[in-house]
Parts: sequence; C-alpha cells; structure tokens
Amino acid sequence: MTSKIAVLPGDGIGPEVTAEAVKVLERLKRDFGLKIELETAPVGGAAYDLHKQPLPEGTLRLAKQADAVLLGAVGGLQYDDLPRELRPERALLGLRSELKLFANLRPAILFPQLASASTLKPEIVAGLDLLIVRELTGDIYFGEPRGVRTLENGEREGFNTMRYAEHEVERVSRVAFDAARKRQRRVCSVEKANVLETSGLWREVVLRVAKDYPDVALNHMYVDNAAMQLVRAPKQFDVIVTGNIFGDILSDEAAMLTGSIGMLPSASLDRANKGMYEPIHGSAPDIAGKGIANPLATILSTAMMLRYTLNEPTLADQVDGAVSKVLDQGIRTGDIYTEGTKRVGTQQMGDAVVAAL
Ligand code: NAD
Repeated sequence: MTSKIAVLPGDGIGPEVTAEAVKVLERLKRDFGLKIELETAPVGGAAYDLHKQPLPEGTLRLAKQADAVLLGAVGGLQYDDLPRELRPERALLGLRSELKLFANLRPAILFPQLASASTLKPEIVAGLDLLIVRELTGDIYFGEPRGVRTLENGEREGFNTMRYAEHEVERVSRVAFDAARKRQRRVCSVEKANVLETSGLWREVVLRVAKDYPDVALNHMYVDNAAMQLVRAPKQFDVIVTGNIFGDILSDEAAMLTGSIGMLPSASLDRANKGMYEPIHGSAPDIAGKGIANPLATILSTAMMLRYTLNEPTLADQVDGAVSKVLDQGIRTGDIYTEGTKRVGTQQMGDAVVAAL
C-alpha cells in the first residue's frame, strides 16, 4: 500500500529544511522500495499570504487524508501584528486538534560527535538518548473554567483549571509504554502527586496501564525532581511520560541538554499512529533565505515518521545512521560547527545525508 504524505513547508527556513528532508524521502522511494506519495500545501504565513488564512481548507483536507504530515516551521515578524486567529502559529494548534494528535514525542539525543555543543559536561550528556512523551490536548492549557474575574474587593484574579480524564491519561501512557518497547523498556511518569489531585489520578491510571506491560519497568517522579535530574544525570531516563504543561517545560529543558536546536525532531501522534512530524525549532527568520539552516532536525523527523507511522524501522535506522555518518565525516552546518570540522550549507548537508544512505 502506498502511504500519502502531506508536506507543509511553512515559513522562514521551513521550506529550506523541508526540501532536504523530501530529498531523503525521494531517495528512499527510488532506491529502497519505500511506497510513498508526496503532496505539498501551504501553511502558516505562506498560507495567509495566498489565502488570508494560516490553515486553509485545502491544506487541512490534505493533512486529514494523508497518513503522515511533514511540517517545516511557521511564523515570521511580518505576521506578528495579525489578530491571534490569523497568526501562523494558529495553524499548528488547528492541525493538532483537527487531527486529534494527543501525544507529542520529543527525543533528546546527543550524537557523541556533538557532545561539546552542550552547556553540560560531555561526560554527563555524551550518548544521551531519551524520549519525552508529552500529552498535548488536555491539562491546564485547555481546562475550563478559565479566565480573569473581578473579586468582591475589586481586585482582579486570573484562574485556570488543571484537569485530566482517565481516558486521556490512559491513551498517552500506552503511547509511552509502546515506545519504551522499541527502546530500553523503561518509563518514568512525571507528575506532582504530592500536591495535585489531578496528578494523583494520573499516577493511578499509569499504574493500571503498566499491568499490561510487565516487560517495561515503571517509576514515578515529581516534576520538580525531574527538572533537577534532567540536568544532574539525564542518562538515567529512557522514556518520560507527562502531562501537557510539565511536558512543555521539561521537553525544552531536555532539548537544551543537547545544545543544538537544529538537531531535534518531534512527532505528534493520534490513536492510530497517524502523525505530524516536524523539527522542534521555529522558522528562524534571522537566518531564513541564507541557505545555512541545519536540515538535520527535519531529516531526523522523517526517520521518526518511518518508525512510528510507516512501520519501516529498518529504513528509520538507515536515516539515523546516515546522519551519524555525516557527522563522523566532520560535516557541519554553522549552528553545530566547531573548529576542525567542515562547514556546509543546508543543501550540501542534505546531499551529504542522501549520499550516506
Ligand atoms: P527559532 O527556533 O526559530 O530560532 C531560535 C534560534 O535558533 C535562532 O537564532 C535561529 O537562527 C536558530 N535556529 C533555529 N533553527 C535552526 C536551524 N535549523 N539551523 C540553524 N539555526 C537554527 O525560534 P524563535 O526565533 O523564537 O522563533 C522564530 C519564529 O518561529 C517565531 O515566529 C515563532 O513563533 C516561530 N516558531 C515556530 C515553531 C514551529 O513552527 N513549530 C516553533 C517555535 C517558534
């Protein structure tokens, strides 16, 4: 069966890095028997320029029909004054909710070749390979009631509601346990059960789900401790599963451990493992159009697509391996350049990965 992939390049460096990831997919299609069909559509500011909407109907339809979505990045200074609902970033929220993508997978991998890029000591982070599974559609970001109200004394008060239903915890836990089975079979569930009722229920549900995965080791950690452990001894983690707000913060912390935002992929999955795959970085307006952006985060996102949606673990390994080989060859874009290595542009980096395949 041929899988359909929606390619949404977006804004800024989005189109530049996406073009290189598409090269990799085309190569796999031509020479490795990967059965895919690619179709491109505008999203974010690029879509606003064409259709006065960041997520036009045609783009959403394509994304819904597709088996997987490859997204570059959205956003740009010229759109910052638009009303909130027309801003490029709305397209991401729209895609996540329309496609029911409730699980966000963010690996933090530090290729040993780049250990010196981290602000932490190389021995703490070299070989780091952890995966954060963040719940994406619930929690205090979406909980009602919310708002700002005026109290009797005339003072204003802001309020939000943290809430998780059992089924929401259960489905994201299953994603984490399933992912752990493809890795080192360890899950750490992060919450704040000593203070929050929502977290108490979260822990109960995770414990229940764990019974279906006797081959995966489970431990629990309070979020404040997890934040500390991530900088103290990050290699203790395999898979971390956590709620929306804790995951938002911890995944950025974990990303910084690697020191190179241009290297980190992500996936957002629905119940049937349909996914949207994108680099974690934004549209980088400061370097857009210069041909110097690092395309490896987007290329590694295609490896995640091969692993989680297209069920092609061998090809996924090959893409990961090709990236590692290129780093071994000392080929670097500006963001990961160190003395003694060879500095290249976006296209040359993409070509090097294709050649390494
Ligand atoms: P950013 O990730 O775009 O850039 C942060 C810094 O990292 C910049 O100095 C940039 O040059 C550098 N950088 C990012 N990706 C790189 C790459 N692949 N290679 C080399 N260097 C890279 O974050 P920002 O500057 O805060 O945001 C810029 C725009 O992107 C904003 O409009 C923001 O809303 C948007 N944004 C979009 C997404 C997304 O599409 N998922 C995510 C974050 C930010």
